[in-house]
Amino acid sequence: MNWTVPLSDLDYGPEEDQAVLDVLHSKWLTMGAVAQAFEAEFAALHAPQTGAIAPGAYGSALPPGFDLQAVAVSNATQALHLACLALGVGPGDEVIVPSLTFVATANAVLYTGAQVRFADVISPAELTIDPAEIDRLYTPRTKAVIVMHYAGYPCRMAEIVAKAKKYGLAVIEDAAHAPAAWLDGRALGTWGDIGCFSFFSNKNLATGEGGMLLTGRPELAEKLRLLRSHGMTSLTWDRHNGHASSYDVVELGHNDRIDELRAALGRVQLAKLERNNARRGLITSQYWQALATTPLELPFRASVLAQARLNNPRAYRPAYHLFPLLLPLGLERERFVGRLKAAGVQTSLHYPPIHTFSYYRKHMPRISLPRTEVAAAREVTLPLFPTMCREQVEHVVEAVLAAAAETAW
Ligand SMILES: *Cc1c(COP(=O)(O)O)cnc(C)c1O
Repeated sequence: MNWTVPLSDLDYGPEEDQAVLDVLHSKWLTMGAVAQAFEAEFAALHAPQTGAIAPGAYGSALPPGFDLQAVAVSNATQALHLACLALGVGPGDEVIVPSLTFVATANAVLYTGAQVRFADVISPAELTIDPAEIDRLYTPRTKAVIVMHYAGYPCRMAEIVAKAKKYGLAVIEDAAHAPAAWLDGRALGTWGDIGCFSFFSNKNLATGEGGMLLTGRPELAEKLRLLRSHGMTSLTWDRHNGHASSYDVVELGHNDRIDELRAALGRVQLAKLERNNARRGLITSQYWQALATTPLELPFRASVLAQARLNNPRAYRPAYHLFPLLLPLGLERERFVGRLKAAGVQTSLHYPPIHTFSYYRKHMPRISLPRTEVAAAREVTLPLFPTMCREQVEHVVEAVLAAAAETAW
């Protein structure tokens, strides 16, 4: 379809073209020097910013010697899978996971033979995992909790990390929506044991397919590197460079490597990331302002307004991946979305809760998560991308106001 305003769009230009051509001309296509540079740059961008935050000002002291390492992979689904494996999640274990997320967050747990326990969200205003759910769902079999920074807004990490510590659980962050996002001086994806990022085409940093793992624990970084590449102790790249001539296999690994073409796109996109996240933030505040006096509920707006006073970009900075809104109860979503479609505005739903999918209903005991179910039924996602122009934002706002007026509240 030819949308007047699509849901998302790439910020690609001649820099991306050139980066790919440079790799082609180098004649080295599989994971090598470009991927290594991408990893180093990605880790540096997410490293704790001691200077930016007054010591102790926001509660979370940075661990001494925190050495952040990045491991590039083929996609975020496999990043989540490898994170579970590296943390020893397996048959007989349970992992607490939000249901209001992309299905891959939960699938990654099932691949390991472990069971998923689904958690509810905090409220319509804060569509992230409710930390109190960890108390409700914990059993002696619980091994880990996976949190997801919905739409790029931070989960309540201090509370989550404290509860995980109390119960001895590992914390995995699904940060697919949240590259270069900050909370209390630490990047999202660096609060737990392992953070997982996605570079799928509609994400804030896009390479087509691709993903990244971040960890501050060197032994986990080592294990993730092995799991990513057949459990082999050396890479083709190392042997090409004469650093190794043979290898051993020390883990049951996979092939989840990125390639040099995607890594090259990733480096160019990484350089644009902070500027593009800021653009997304600006468009988000324009939407919020234009829709503030309607009965539409605007998730996370109150959180952001409460934090804006701090005026410190490392204290609270979402990645603004999506623009979710919640229709008033009783407003018919299909008609509302149909009106927007007629105006050329593409929308989406984030997300059909995972526990309601046929596969999960078939393989899990029936559960109910009231806050997740109500929020998901009311949710509509509006277009949001960094290259969106003022006319496009205005067009969406007009279409939303007209659709809402027509569908009557
Ligand atoms: C996109 C996404 C994933 C999966 O990422 P891929 O790179 O496509 O495998 C996982 N979790 C969330 C929340 C996502 O949005």
